[in-house]
Amino acid sequence: MERRIFVKTLVLGSGTMIFGDHDVGAVKVDSNGILVKMIYNNTGQNHDYKKEWGLAIWIEQDNRAVLFDTGGNPGTLLKNMQTAGLDTAKISVIIISHNHWDHTRGLPAVLENLTKNTTVYVPASDAPEIPDSKGRVTVKQVSAAQQLDGSIWSTGEMKGSLANEVVYEQSVILLQKKLLYVFTGCAHPGIVAIVEKTGVLYPDHEIALVAGGFHLIDKSAEEIKILSGRLNDLNVKRIAPSHCTGDKAIDYFRAEWKDRFVDLNIGDDFNI
Ligand SMILES: [Zn+2]
Ligand SMILES: [Zn+2]
Repeated sequence: MERRIFVKTLVLGSGTMIFGDHDVGAVKVDSNGILVKMIYNNTGQNHDYKKEWGLAIWIEQDNRAVLFDTGGNPGTLLKNMQTAGLDTAKISVIIISHNHWDHTRGLPAVLENLTKNTTVYVPASDAPEIPDSKGRVTVKQVSAAQQLDGSIWSTGEMKGSLANEVVYEQSVILLQKKLLYVFTGCAHPGIVAIVEKTGVLYPDHEIALVAGGFHLIDKSAEEIKILSGRLNDLNVKRIAPSHCTGDKAIDYFRAEWKDRFVDLNIGDDFNI
């Protein structure tokens, strides 16, 4: 049922070539700007969307969309995209942060609905299986930091760990003029290490935002305080922690960063 409604929405969206003003959704994109929309997350209070463990972020510029991660449940991902009025026909790039189910399981459903050739960027050292029933998908393995599409770059894969298992993960850097916007999946390599690498890659730029999963669920209050201080010392202007960051860390950041704390949870937009 959900699937049938979604396909109908796609026809309307791609057929009219009008975005935002037709009846499938209320998303508005500034013609010069970049829309970032949190379409899958386990944090937030927007009851129009289904909230489930995982992460997926829609990034749209000039009528082209990049999907960063795909959440943990294909039905929830498609439903939330439909609620947001987002059109899979716009997707030309998909970036998978790392090979954990809560970031990859929505991928087959998105690939099934693609209408144009799409590149999927995965970490080279631990690439998920990518089905390609329509022959539209090119898979590219990412090792070093590189440009993926327009103003979107990858930190390159970084090594991290989760419960004694090695995890390779890439983060997304959105470059707009001299400003950097960093988006993380789970930050298994460490949120500070990711921000440090971003600073090394772009020494002349300001880190305007760090958003996504910070994976601080198992950290003590003292460790969270130290991490927060290091992010501040690294000149991060604003933060938007969600997903696996954990309530304790999110509460601390909210109190400590005050108006530099940004809510970017399920259904929320961030305009650049
Ligand atoms: Zn995760
Ligand atoms: Zn993970």
